[in-house]
Amino acid sequence: MLLLQSANEQHPKGLANSSDQVGRNFMKHLAAAIVGLSVKDNPSVFQKTLAINDYYWGEPGFDYPMGHVQLLGKVNHRMLALDVPKLAPTWALRAAAKRTVDWWLTGEDAPDPENRVRVEKGKISLHYQPNNMQAFKRLIQRWVKTVKEVDNQGAVLPVSWYFSKILPIGAIAHQVGTCRFGIDPTTCVLDLNCKTHDIDNLYVVDGSFFPSSAAVNPSLTIMANAMRVGDHLIERLT
Ligand SMILES: Cc1cc2nc3c(=O)[nH]c(=O)nc-3n(C[C@H](O)[C@H](O)[C@H](O)COP(=O)(O)OP(=O)(O)OC[C@H]3O[C@@H](n4cnc5c(N)ncnc54)[C@H](O)[C@@H]3O)c2cc1C
Repeated sequence: MLLLQSANEQHPKGLANSSDQVGRNFMKHLAAAIVGLSVKDNPSVFQKTLAINDYYWGEPGFDYPMGHVQLLGKVNHRMLALDVPKLAPTWALRAAAKRTVDWWLTGEDAPDPENRVRVEKGKISLHYQPNNMQAFKRLIQRWVKTVKEVDNQGAVLPVSWYFSKILPIGAIAHQVGTCRFGIDPTTCVLDLNCKTHDIDNLYVVDGSFFPSSAAVNPSLTIMANAMRVGDHLIERLT
């Protein structure tokens, strides 16, 4: 946004945007939650402790990356209420929430130049069409089957937060891309040190540098990259 909104006479399309790539290749991960209902109580408070990449590169019979599975912070009865008929009584939701095991699934959305953030006449807009859904749906089906097999109780309710009918865009947490790095100034905003190709003293070190989104949480990579760029800056300035 800062780059696009900083357009001036020298940079009419926005800062560092001679390539028209700023804002493009927006990615946000394909995300879904699966709530597995068990007959046993789940007393977890801080549940987010396990991650599984067994299907990251595919599975027998499917040679394409499917994505990543991790435990979700514990779902409560208020969250369950969003995805069941309105008349469901609170006592039943409380009882159910005590017995759920909750999973977060992440799939990779591939970079698409038409998935982009724009600023027009001061107004921010986002165009996003999901892609790579076949592999992600397979991951969801695979994990529901796995949870059923483990628990053997059968009651599993898949909940897709990204496809929330109320606030689909509000489900974004892992936004990356829009200033991807790479060696070609005609297709990338940043060089490999995250310096803009256009402007010698302008660096971008947030999640926008990602050229692809992978299917795991982005924060540690964002931090590691920022430290790498920090080292480069120290070297350049001393
Ligand atoms: C609910 C939720 C859960 C998440 N869980 C995880 C997780 O478990 N693991 C994980 O890896 N990631 C997680 N993420 C994603 C992670 O938080 C982001 O990927 C990461 O913080 C992005 O870092 P960033 O530096 O790109 O942007 P941000 O951390 O969003 O930093 C952008 C900064 O820019 C500032 N800013 C914005 N506009 C301006 C302006 N005009 N002028 C000056 N400053 C401005 C903002 O205030 C902000 O401080 C989660 C995100 C959410 C929302």
